[in-house]
Amino acid sequence: MNTNYSLIIIGGGLSGLAAGIRYARFGGSVLILEKHTIPGGLNSYYSRKGFLLETGLHAMTNFADPGEKHAPLNRLFRQLKLSRKQFITHEQFSSLIHFPDKTTLSFSNDFSLLRDEVARVFPSEIDGFDKLQAFIDSLDAFAPNPRLSTRMILADYIHDPLLTEMLLLPLMVYGNSEEHDMDFSQFAIMFRSIFKEGMFRPHGTIKDFLDLLVTKFTSFGGEIRYKSHVVSCLKKGNRITGVTLANGEIINCNNVISTIGAPGTWNLLSLPPENDMCGKMSFMESIYILPSNARKNILNDHTIIFYSEKKEFQYCRPQSPVDPSWGVICFPENFQNLPLGDHFQIRVTNAANYELWKNASSSQYKLMKVEWGKVSKEITTKIIGNYQQNIVYEDSFTPLTIEKFTAKEQGAVYGSPFKIKNGKTPCPNLFIAGTDQGFLGIVGSMLSGVSMVNQHILQE
Ligand SMILES: Cc1cc2nc3c(=O)[nH]c(=O)nc-3n(C[C@H](O)[C@H](O)[C@H](O)COP(=O)(O)OP(=O)(O)OC[C@H]3O[C@@H](n4cnc5c(N)ncnc54)[C@H](O)[C@@H]3O)c2cc1C
Repeated sequence: MNTNYSLIIIGGGLSGLAAGIRYARFGGSVLILEKHTIPGGLNSYYSRKGFLLETGLHAMTNFADPGEKHAPLNRLFRQLKLSRKQFITHEQFSSLIHFPDKTTLSFSNDFSLLRDEVARVFPSEIDGFDKLQAFIDSLDAFAPNPRLSTRMILADYIHDPLLTEMLLLPLMVYGNSEEHDMDFSQFAIMFRSIFKEGMFRPHGTIKDFLDLLVTKFTSFGGEIRYKSHVVSCLKKGNRITGVTLANGEIINCNNVISTIGAPGTWNLLSLPPENDMCGKMSFMESIYILPSNARKNILNDHTIIFYSEKKEFQYCRPQSPVDPSWGVICFPENFQNLPLGDHFQIRVTNAANYELWKNASSSQYKLMKVEWGKVSKEITTKIIGNYQQNIVYEDSFTPLTIEKFTAKEQGAVYGSPFKIKNGKTPCPNLFIAGTDQGFLGIVGSMLSGVSMVNQHILQE
């Protein structure tokens, strides 16, 4: 077995797999070390009672038709030498932002729907909305811009606080690691990828997508080892010379890309964390399975519903184990041209408090899951109708599950609020990719893996 690689990638999530394919494509010797038994990280799957349950995928963002050469999705596929034409996609029907007093805005992959909706519900705001959109279009959001408060910038364009909240909810919950506010560059990236480009899902399950990536990686000669938990990096001076696994095995390398987040990476170097590296935003997600004939009883013509019971939603770690007053209701079967099966799923995501779950005894933990699941069901029932009596199987996961299966400290799905945009660490041959480098979501984390290889490894 080879014990000396040009590149070791720590973590077989989406950023690690994308980085691996990009490097292996040019013939470099590359090893991905993944501590779990399957790839995917935050975006993975498991089986229960004959159902394949997906843990991360509500929808992929950045939809683009195969012909749109410059679109991020197509650039990503080109960089990975994956066929975009053979990659079958299903676009969302439409999604809904649902606030009190039945104030709603629909949006789809056609941006004009959102614009029309803003003009319908907030007629006096449409000029400001158009100007905001033009400003976002003119911005180079990927440049190393200083952090700017999204709330402050939005105040220049939008004057009705309700519209501000309604625009912020989908973009925050799908990719903001900060509490209460958001870096404007990140807002602009999310505005484009969700509102302007739109959402879709690949044909098949997330397992099929991960299989495609792993097959591509190994076909280029890349190696992946599961159950390979990296516990430290070996150094000569401040250069990394290799990594040590939990079983004591040492593997040497010239370069390392770490996709396990900044706090985890600093741990491998035995360095104290910088700033407050650990993010606070984590979630409880519940998955409900219902028979197909139960669809008729509920509001189910949207793909995703972003809801808030209050006019101002609190994007922060809640005081209680879960904050069901706002969240996401996703119907994973509601994408265009998806074949319908005997069952369908509803997935509900709510902000959750890591500490309170962490400090619970195992019996309290089980009880909390049931109790908070019940509260969440009651609130979401008010929006989509009563689905509870038809549930044939349900499961939920908490910030502890996220931490356990991905090593994202405190279950912080979007990582640290302090992003390392150039990917650099205190060691000149160790780089960060994925969530803590600053690109979020499935497409974002893959683009991050590719761009870190392009900028730092292939340049050598
Ligand atoms: C509930 C939920 C819903 C989501 N929904 C969406 C969605 O609808 N659309 C979307 O675009 N994104 C969604 N996301 C986010 C998306 O899944 C992530 O942004 C993306 O998968 C992050 O990939 P990554 O490679 O950066 O990190 P990770 O997925 O965290 O990968 C890191 C990998 O490193 C491994 N690892 C950690 N420590 C070690 C170690 N010491 N040694 C070896 N291996 C290690 C982990 O096991 C993991 O596999 C969702 C996430 C969650 C949790």
